[in-house]
Amino acid sequence: MKQIRKAVFPGSFDPFTIGHYDVLCSALKIFDEVVIAVGINSSKRGFFDKNERVEFIQEAIKGLEGVSVCTYEKLTVDFCKEIGAKYMIRGLRSTTDFEFENAVAQANKKIAPEISTIFIPASGEYSFVSSTVVRELLVNGGDISEFLPKGVTLKKRK
Ligand code: ADP
Repeated sequence: MKQIRKAVFPGSFDPFTIGHYDVLCSALKIFDEVVIAVGINSSKRGFFDKNERVEFIQEAIKGLEGVSVCTYEKLTVDFCKEIGAKYMIRGLRSTTDFEFENAVAQANKKIAPEISTIFIPASGEYSFVSSTVVRELLVNGGDISEFLPKGVTLKKRK
């Protein structure tokens, strides 16, 4: 029987951007199933709350097969084990991302050798896109449409 290749794509996704969507589409060429996992840090309040972040992602992944979204509050490797995923996806925009992500990947390998981190490089046209830029634009009334996956509109609840 063929084994389903399942990966977790973890992140804050505050909010999910076209850069994240691009990494997701690349991951779907490699994996049968990708679980987008919104990491919730109970001691850190995000710009968008967890329900808003999940709703934006649900909007973005409409029509894509093999993708689901959920939230989690534990260590990412523990979440991977819990749902039976052996791979974790992280996107890389720059060497700075690599330095940081590589250290995290090595620490994760140490504590959970059965989980592998897979790095996916950003497409050139989206390598400058970040959730931070989107939040800055939102707060200052800038146009964010170019930074979001098609069909997604961000509405902050009061
Ligand atoms: P975290 O707080 O866990 O870094 P983010 O939501 O900021 O969560 O990012 C989730 C993942 O997506 C990270 O691996 C990050 O490097 C990657 N990422 C973010 N923006 C882009 C982009 N424009 N292109 C490729 N990868 C990206």
